[in-house]
Amino acid sequence: MCPSRSASSPAQASTVPLSTAIGGRRPTKPTTPSSTNPSASPPNSAFDARSERNLATLLPEAQKAARRFLTKAIAAGHDVRILSGTRSYAEQAALFRKGRWGNPGPRVTNARPGQSLHNHGVAWDVGVFKNGQYQTAQAPYVAVAKYHDPETTEWGGSWKTFKDTPHYQLRHYVKL
Ligand SMILES: [Zn+2]
Repeated sequence: MCPSRSASSPAQASTVPLSTAIGGRRPTKPTTPSSTNPSASPPNSAFDARSERNLATLLPEAQKAARRFLTKAIAAGHDVRILSGTRSYAEQAALFRKGRWGNPGPRVTNARPGQSLHNHGVAWDVGVFKNGQYQTAQAPYVAVAKYHDPETTEWGGSWKTFKDTPHYQLRHYVKL
């Protein structure tokens, strides 16, 4: 994934081609719904507050896909929430440092700032809960994955290397 690109200038975060490239059928402006305050409870708020907060950080196409997935999984009896949506370059850099250069923890990403679709509004991570407890085992994540739409959405658990079972992203975007 683009290892030759230096991440030395993470400041140029604002103009990426993705927002204009998602199938060319982006219905509305990405982050500023005209009639609603994103920090307030959205009109069709069906999900928990954290999920809604993270959903609001996604571009409309991604938000639609994530909402469809969540709706189906919850209807089937799973307690699934969106734990992460769009991340700033600084947040991505902090994640990339985990498990590298003597920093503690397992490595959680191979993407430098700008290289993760989380930086571009088209990727989200889910958490599965049982009796209110966040699940860390793989099985519950594999179980809920069948509710995503493979036409529009790619599941990180389907990747050959670095399987990322909580991760989903839109299929249609321009590679950086
Ligand atoms: Zn992710």
